Amino acid sequence: MDHKFTHAADAMARVVIQNALFFGRAKASALVIPWCTYTDPEVAHVGLYEAEAKARGLDVQTFTEPMAHVDRAVLDGDTDGFVKVHVRAGSDRIIGATVVARHAGEIISELTLAVVGGLGLRTLARTIHPYPTQAEAVKRVADAYNRTRLTPFVKGLFQKWLAWMR
Ligand SMILES: Cc1cc2nc3c(=O)[nH]c(=O)nc-3n(C[C@H](O)[C@H](O)[C@H](O)COP(=O)(O)OP(=O)(O)OC[C@H]3O[C@@H](n4cnc5c(N)ncnc54)[C@H](O)[C@@H]3O)c2cc1C
Repeated sequence: MDHKFTHAADAMARVVIQNALFFGRAKASALVIPWCTYTDPEVAHVGLYEAEAKARGLDVQTFTEPMAHVDRAVLDGDTDGFVKVHVRAGSDRIIGATVVARHAGEIISELTLAVVGGLGLRTLARTIHPYPTQAEAVKRVADAYNRTRLTPFVKGLFQKWLAWMR
């Protein structure tokens, strides 16, 4: 087992109990196990890295949002770090994510839920995050994905509207 963590031991114990007592066919190898290293800032990860995805023949598109762009991180003085999300090229399906942030271990859970539940960045973009929170970094990544879906005409209108708002 690659992941020697308390939460991995707990998840595997649940697989054993499910299979032994409830005629389950769950596999420990199918578990999606995030991890976090409690440095400052913390480093957390779930799923595949870009190199792993490429080694499996998957085309990857990556979206990164620096914590310095997140209002709550600025307010808290926690601007070191980023949220990086890999999706399968041409889709919003998340295949891996890395978070470096003061509270990366908290932020990675939303992305882990997305991987386990098959929720894509489009769903995360529709999810309202309270303001100001550091988890808004995830929403900003999802918004960056959504902007890639705009046609040049709509993008032009959008940029004009943004300029007018400023
Ligand atoms: C310093 C340190 C820091 C860590 N920090 C983290 C962290 O921050 N986050 C995290 O997720 N993980 C962390 N881990 C890893 C985590 O502690 C382990 O992955 C987890 O405890 C493994 O759980 P387990 O039940 O498989 O084994 P264990 O927790 O080791 O439990 C095994 C039990 O079996 C007993 N045992 C062994 N042999 C026998 C025997 N022959 N007969 C009867 N009993 C036996 C042992 O006494 C022990 O009680 C850390 C580990 C260390 C060492």
